Amino acid sequence: FHVTGVQTCALPICFQRAGIILIILMSILSFGISQSKQEGTMMSKENTGNKTEAEWQKELSTEVYQILREKGTERAFSGKYDEHFEAGVYLCVGCGDTLYTSETKYNSGCGWPAFSDGITGKIDEFEDNSFGMRRTEITCANCGGHLGHVFNDGPKPTGLRHCVNSASLKFVPVADLEKQGYGKFTPLFEKADKK
Ligand code: FE
Repeated sequence: FHVTGVQTCALPICFQRAGIILIILMSILSFGISQSKQEGTMMSKENTGNKTEAEWQKELSTEVYQILREKGTERAFSGKYDEHFEAGVYLCVGCGDTLYTSETKYNSGCGWPAFSDGITGKIDEFEDNSFGMRRTEITCANCGGHLGHVFNDGPKPTGLRHCVNSASLKFVPVADLEKQGYGKFTPLFEKADKK
């Protein structure tokens, strides 16, 4: 009988087992926590609209890609919708979802299209601390495309100024809403006409 040598560790076996189980439990727990944290940020920040960046790059012009997918900003007073006040709906240039109506567009004088509000649920907001500023970035909730920033110096009743790049938008005039599949917005403008 060689009883000695079977147990190499100074700790009794039951303690060793308890220690191993504890280590396994703790690593499972901490892994779970780090996973859920990562998921949280990824879901909000990396909405790619079910397309790869390579696909977006192929589909969009260089200027639009830089603004919409790489969070660029067009030069002030250079965008096609800055001084544009026709009645209609503004779509996301990336995915075609409806973001703003001309009912909320106003002349802010800031050099970019400004809206006092977005269409409910269509715009996501994120904290943006880039360039040494504290701003709130706005993106298309559907495809994650960068729109611009929202500020608290807008007109009543919202007090908001959605400062949006023209390059991120595509305008559909009232007359074309029906045929382009956005007919549900037509009554909004009919009502405005009667006022
Ligand atoms: Fe979009």
